Amino acid sequence: MRLDTDPYLSRYATRVTGMSASEIRALFAVASRPEVVSFAGGMPATDALDMAAVEDVVSSVIRDAGALALQYGGGQGRPELREHLVEVMHHEEVPGHADDLIVTVGGQQALELIAKCFIDDGDVVLAEGPTYVGGIGALKSHRAEVRHIPVDDQGMDVDLLEDALNELRREGRKAKYVYTIPNHQNPAGVSMSLARRHRLAELAEAHDLLLLEDNPYGLLDFAGRIEPSLRSLVPDRVVYVGTMSKLFAPGVRTGWIAAPGPIRDKLVLLREAADLCPSNLTQMIVERWLATQPWQDQIKRFTELYREKAEVMLAALEKEMPEGVHWTTPAGAFYIWLTVPAGIDTSDLLAKAVGRRVAYVPGRGFYADGAGGAQARLCFSYPELERIPEGVARLGELLHDELELVRAVFGDDAPSPDPRPSGPATGVGG
Ligand code: PMP
Repeated sequence: MRLDTDPYLSRYATRVTGMSASEIRALFAVASRPEVVSFAGGMPATDALDMAAVEDVVSSVIRDAGALALQYGGGQGRPELREHLVEVMHHEEVPGHADDLIVTVGGQQALELIAKCFIDDGDVVLAEGPTYVGGIGALKSHRAEVRHIPVDDQGMDVDLLEDALNELRREGRKAKYVYTIPNHQNPAGVSMSLARRHRLAELAEAHDLLLLEDNPYGLLDFAGRIEPSLRSLVPDRVVYVGTMSKLFAPGVRTGWIAAPGPIRDKLVLLREAADLCPSNLTQMIVERWLATQPWQDQIKRFTELYREKAEVMLAALEKEMPEGVHWTTPAGAFYIWLTVPAGIDTSDLLAKAVGRRVAYVPGRGFYADGAGGAQARLCFSYPELERIPEGVARLGELLHDELELVRAVFGDDAPSPDPRPSGPATGVGG
């Protein structure tokens, strides 16, 4: 059997044939070595959890209800957990009722089930550009045509969304839904302004749109600010996704969907076909965590830590980056989005960066259309606080050196990176 070509190629479903692991996966394996300061993984600081409390919660679930925890459960998820998740939503002023909710295996399964529910081959989905790599993965695996709507420091540009909607109308087509991460977006680290939220809600009504509101980071605002959710503005037009991954721990793989009744019913059927039911064990762990622990204090502790790390990274960027490099200023969560000057391609630069013991995710992973060659995502939530300046200094030095090379070759006329297909930048957490 030849190993350089895939001998099973002729057997795959069409949606799988075009899928491949990105070449940067191998680099991420190197990036996880201890000498590398990695800004790549979109991961929470689980070491900031109170492990003794977690241990109590886990052992009490087994001690008090082991047989139930180790049994199958219902496809919609445990009603007791759904009640607690509604309470979490209410802390963000997101309306909801336990009956509206489906417990999923993280937000990722939610995105995948929603794509499966709505997308036929070639259907159009409008998504922020850049957007979450796993969101693109879910859309692509159902062969959606993803059209990006640019993001600026106020979130998705809703005027450009309107243009895209009008363009679709002219083509006689309709978007299946609009995918947005309104709070502390992954990867851009920006939030949608209040005015744009209202405008988006109006557009949803005017164009008969369905919105997919993905909200892992809303409770991680550094100043504790809460903006109105889209679900609170146009509830019948929103499929809302939440997750405990950033509020508690991604290891419990617990997320949820809140959807209008008819959509919820279809999603429950799809989920039962996929994996029958969420794990009773992890659901009961999350349930007990929320019922017995000061979870809001824990979120405050996380947020305080991330705020401190963001400040350290921003100060280091200010100090170390050459002229012409720009970045966003996050008001919450995990990410800074970096833009480099013309002549530098962040996909090509990654190998050199890893060679200099610093890692990031190249921007192309966050676009479905090959854009993003001049961008990179820096995640500050996971690396140790003390190592952030060192990592930024290594990246700054590399960019200084690269820019010198670029100037030597092109003078002031360096080209911007071309769009180029790239595999999904997965394998680094969220
Ligand atoms: N949506 C967004 C925007 C994310 O950033 C992530 C993960 N980082 C997810 C969904 C999925 O996370 P999980 O499956 O752990 O809930």
